[in-house]
Amino acid sequence: DFIREIIAGDRASGKNGGRVVTRFPPEPNGYLHIGHAKSICLNFGIAEENPGAVCRLRFDDTNPIKESTEYTESIKADVRWLGFSWEGEPRYTSGYFEMLYCFAEELIVAGKAYVCDLGADEIRAWRGTLTEPGRESPFRGRSVETNLDLFRRMRAGEFADGSRVLRAKIDMASPNMNLRDPTLYRIRRVTHHQTGDRWCIYPMYDFSHCLSDAIEGVTHSLCTLEFEDNRPLYDWVLDQVTLPGNRPRQIEFSRLQLEYTVVSKRRLLRLVTEGHVSGWDDPRMPTLAGMRRRGYTPGAIRAFARKIGVTKAEGRVELALLEYCLRQDLESRALRVMVVLDPLLVVIDNFPEGVEVVEFQAANHPGDPGMGSRKLAFTREIFIEREDFREDAPKKFKRLVPGGEVRLRYGYVIRCREVVKDPATGEVVRLHCTLDPETLHANPEGRKVKGVVHWVSASRQVPVRLRLYDRLFNKPDPEDVAEGESFIDHLNPGSLVELEARPAESFLASATAGVNYQFERVGYYCLDAKESAGGGLVFNRTVTLRDTWAKIAGREGEEG
Ligand code: ATP
Ligand code: MG
Repeated sequence: DFIREIIAGDRASGKNGGRVVTRFPPEPNGYLHIGHAKSICLNFGIAEENPGAVCRLRFDDTNPIKESTEYTESIKADVRWLGFSWEGEPRYTSGYFEMLYCFAEELIVAGKAYVCDLGADEIRAWRGTLTEPGRESPFRGRSVETNLDLFRRMRAGEFADGSRVLRAKIDMASPNMNLRDPTLYRIRRVTHHQTGDRWCIYPMYDFSHCLSDAIEGVTHSLCTLEFEDNRPLYDWVLDQVTLPGNRPRQIEFSRLQLEYTVVSKRRLLRLVTEGHVSGWDDPRMPTLAGMRRRGYTPGAIRAFARKIGVTKAEGRVELALLEYCLRQDLESRALRVMVVLDPLLVVIDNFPEGVEVVEFQAANHPGDPGMGSRKLAFTREIFIEREDFREDAPKKFKRLVPGGEVRLRYGYVIRCREVVKDPATGEVVRLHCTLDPETLHANPEGRKVKGVVHWVSASRQVPVRLRLYDRLFNKPDPEDVAEGESFIDHLNPGSLVELEARPAESFLASATAGVNYQFERVGYYCLDAKESAGGGLVFNRTVTLRDTWAKIAGREGEEG
């Protein structure tokens, strides 16, 4: 990608002494989402790929009102979970407040910044528009001495919140609005999660970010495209002060947007506070905490980041691509087990007399016998999936029909002898079958049984609760709303369906959180530690085995 090319070029030409330093700079005002994962994979990935390069974690904590240590802790956990480690201790912009303050005084002394007494509304009104220049503040001409004195007294807490700000003195007529004397510091009496009540003035993003990069020796400051117009200000600030080391370079790339979800912390916070989801880690959320709980793996997310690449092109990435990466990763790691979602009772009439249970050895992972095996209890009564039996089946139906045969996964071939129905409703209540003892694990010579169905012993099973998730919004771009609507109006009411007490093979009684399971022929699932805390076994559906939506869309396409 173009960023890696720039970095390779800089290394080759010996720029910055050949050093490469990147940083991931989250503002601790929410949980990380899949969009952040793109930035994490880029910044930490570059550090991994370039010998001697480092990537740091820096909390961009200049707005204490919205920030908290709950967020800083979750961010650290999420970066680690993705498999990355930052160089040294996590950094905090707030750790540089004293240095930033000194840079601000340097600007004042150089006549490049002034204290302005206009209110926030006035500053906005005087800024002008894209077509009209702004008006200069009447306080723009204050002397260096007055500005220094007022700024020191701002710091000392002599003035009320919002009564004064420090502004850069650049150009009120600049076509770039960011250069029309932007605010650098404001007064805010808010306790900060790192610095407590030590400060009552806080620096703005455009002032603190470039200088924090410079303080840390960052060489390539990678950010998203909406900061393109802030780059001239980034460079302006760096031009005015005495830099401690190298000069960082800001490079922008496009934000990740994903279909059927939103990735803005402000919107995600609204979903949480209004109770549309159970929390930041609701398995339907695009947060890393939610995705982890749902059963997403770091490998899947990193593969996804590689696939989407890094460009300047805007656009929503298909959810199907993320799910493709997920299935690819789960296919090779998920433990195989059998669970029946819609049980139909089957009685094996010739199940050996006097025997209670036959134990089969089943592979935990058919593709890799090294991944262990499990014991499977086969009993006289078992459940199969209701949809795996049909009375009036089309020719192509390879599963069980009256009088027909099917193989039980890892077990015998059975033949359906009798169909018992509820006389009132006509619903099939159970099947009577016989097993063929010759067929355990393999077809005898000359016999071909094509269909294989999954099953669970009716008497040796463990009931599980299943939470089936679907896309959170029913629109690819939930932010594309008509007038008077909000993205909330496009929530998918069917995004969570719960199934109670489904029969699962007893192996799952010892299921552990953090392990991915493939419920054979059904989907990928994982134990939900939170929901299972009360003693039950609750599983989250991570993803279906195939892309059912693609199939439905395809069918609709055919019909239409
Ligand atoms: P949000 O709009 O969700 O609040 P943000 O950009 O304000 O996002 P930060 O915590 O400031 O969130 O972001 C930390 C880093 O992650 C920044 O460098 C930012 O550019 C990057 N980032 C945030 N969202 C995305 C995204 N959707 N795609 C790629 N990078 C992102
Ligand atoms: Mg932000």
